[in-house]
Amino acid sequence: MANFYDDNADLRWYVETGIDWEPLVRLSEHDLKAEDAPESIEEAVGLYKDLLTMVGGFIADEIAPRWRELDEAHPHVVDGEVEEAAVTQEVMAGIAELGVHGLCVPRELGGMNAPLLMLQMNNEMFSRADVSVCAHVSFHGGIAMAALSYSIREGSSEFTLDPPQITSTRFEECITEIASGESWGSMDITEPDAGSDMAALRTYGEQDDDGNWFVTGQKIYITSGHGRWHFVIARTEPDEGKTAGLKGLSMFLVPAWSYDDAGEKVRTTTIDGVEHKLGHNGSATVAISFEKSPAMLVGERGDGFKHMLVLMNNARVGVGFESIGVSEAAYRAAVDYAAQRPSMGKTIDRHEMIAEMLEDMQTEIQAMRAMSIMAGWHEEIAQKLDMRLRFMPPESEAEQAQITKDIKHHGAKARLLTPLLKWYGGEKAVDIARRAIQVHGGSGYCKDYPVEKYLRDAMVFPIYEGTTQIQALMAMKDSLMGIMKDPSAFFSGFAKAQWDVIRAGSERERGVAKIQLAKFKALGFLLSRLAGSKLGQLRGQSPAQWKALFLQVDPKRDFALAMLHADRLASILTDAAVAELFWTQAQQDPSRGELLDRWLDRAVLRSTQTLEQITTTGDRLLSKLAAAQDAADAAEAKAAK
Ligand SMILES: Cc1cc2nc3c(=O)[nH]c(=O)nc-3n(C[C@H](O)[C@H](O)[C@H](O)COP(=O)(O)OP(=O)(O)OC[C@H]3O[C@@H](n4cnc5c(N)ncnc54)[C@H](O)[C@@H]3O)c2cc1C
Repeated sequence: MANFYDDNADLRWYVETGIDWEPLVRLSEHDLKAEDAPESIEEAVGLYKDLLTMVGGFIADEIAPRWRELDEAHPHVVDGEVEEAAVTQEVMAGIAELGVHGLCVPRELGGMNAPLLMLQMNNEMFSRADVSVCAHVSFHGGIAMAALSYSIREGSSEFTLDPPQITSTRFEECITEIASGESWGSMDITEPDAGSDMAALRTYGEQDDDGNWFVTGQKIYITSGHGRWHFVIARTEPDEGKTAGLKGLSMFLVPAWSYDDAGEKVRTTTIDGVEHKLGHNGSATVAISFEKSPAMLVGERGDGFKHMLVLMNNARVGVGFESIGVSEAAYRAAVDYAAQRPSMGKTIDRHEMIAEMLEDMQTEIQAMRAMSIMAGWHEEIAQKLDMRLRFMPPESEAEQAQITKDIKHHGAKARLLTPLLKWYGGEKAVDIARRAIQVHGGSGYCKDYPVEKYLRDAMVFPIYEGTTQIQALMAMKDSLMGIMKDPSAFFSGFAKAQWDVIRAGSERERGVAKIQLAKFKALGFLLSRLAGSKLGQLRGQSPAQWKALFLQVDPKRDFALAMLHADRLASILTDAAVAELFWTQAQQDPSRGELLDRWLDRAVLRSTQTLEQITTTGDRLLSKLAAAQDAADAAEAKAAK
């Protein structure tokens, strides 16, 4: 089979042209002063390409041909431990041997010190071969880097400048075990009665008189939850007053077992079972119980939700790459099948509707990749700049202020793109896999071809790491709150988009501007409905007063229309974000112009139609919901009397 990196022209374009590696290399290698650092940016990028080629070759030869075995590789619980199928064990052993688990971990902790973005790009290739392998791989390096990041944030890592390196870190055992491939971690949030609604979490953490922490409760659907290192979200503060809901949650690192003096494993948690799922069959999805399990509090009490977001942002970008991998596999299977299947005198790829379907699939995958790579790039730069500020702060205050500003800039870009790529990638992967089945006709519905597996595997992307609806709500709230905080940027952006539509120098530029305008109109409409007459009152007043006026809203009732249209708004925001990315790429490299044209062909009309739906529908359903709520409130009041 062809190397999964070499045969992917779009992925290679990013590595060779699209990604600005310099800041990532400089931040990862401490300005090339780290011990054994590459001597130049070019050398580092050359090394990254070699690594991608090595992993791409391994995946093509050792994983992709085993897709059917992996699909049948259900893990089981035997004597209280999860037993993986032989194929999973063999594949994971091969990956550990390549050193992939330590790819991003600093050299001084047993890794290779590559950027996290490298792990994400590898994940695309793993996912193209088998998504359950990808999921399991992510919970190695991803968790090791989260552990390091938490230790740095809470101030429990030491750093020396000559040469620049970490000399000690609180979670060293966890990080080095994972880097060596000996163990892995997981992110334990979901409970039987709390999924999207994290405020309903009931697992709790308590402290004994000596200050030791213990966690009690059950977590379900935990990917790779059969490993040793669990980041667990648990309640430590009363669920009332100032610590109600998300504010009373803390994060813990809970080892699932320890070792006694004789080196014997002593389990301090219980595996309750492994799920039997529609897809992702090689990946263990575990229910696990904690019964006064010894735990380490991460950071401060009550900061659990904040810490979880750090882990989750990277994980959501990770789902973006998983979605690309499965979509790429489905698309390629469809292209190959369509090229050899004759119908009515020609192969089906030359029939107009199939040709269009294939072209749309390709464009959508490229959109997913653009958003995922750029979100991953911005997120990593923001996180590593934060690390630099802590460990290698520049002497001058002006330079420190510049770094703080850069952290905000990159953080904001990542925050904008991440829910959108998860929203779009998850839904599109399902869509693309379904269309790949359609291209295969009856063969696609049968198990002889892998496309039905791709659909089963893809179906989880809109669900885990925050559902499609939760991503849409996040994108909506972030956009509207952003405008409330800085209305002047919104009004000037709106005016610029209007002007750009008129003065655009080319059809391409006009297309991009039209989508931007649809975005501003949609946001403006929702905002005006949200703030009611407040928007009109804003004119002629200072921005400080606008903010106060806007913030006088009751989120539950006033956000109703915006919540109803959150999915549609996410569609327009995605159309605009991707148009902007492809526009920038086309400026940098004219060969990307055709990709921009393909995107504009669909996105210009889609965004204007979606805008129309936002501005003209919804009131009927909202009245119905409000009436139902009033009836429920009245019934409750009557019962309380
Ligand atoms: C294979 C797999 C692996 C997983 N891995 C992990 C893991 O490693 N760690 C972990 O902690 N969890 C994991 N999960 C759990 C996953 O994150 C949850 O299933 C997900 O967050 C949804 O929660 P839920 O299942 O309780 O659904 P619910 O929250 O009950 O949601 C049901 C439906 O209601 C919608 N909904 C809920 N609230 C709203 C709202 N306010 N507005 C609009 N719609 C809403 C949702 O979008 C969804 O469509 C995994 C799940 C699966 C299937």
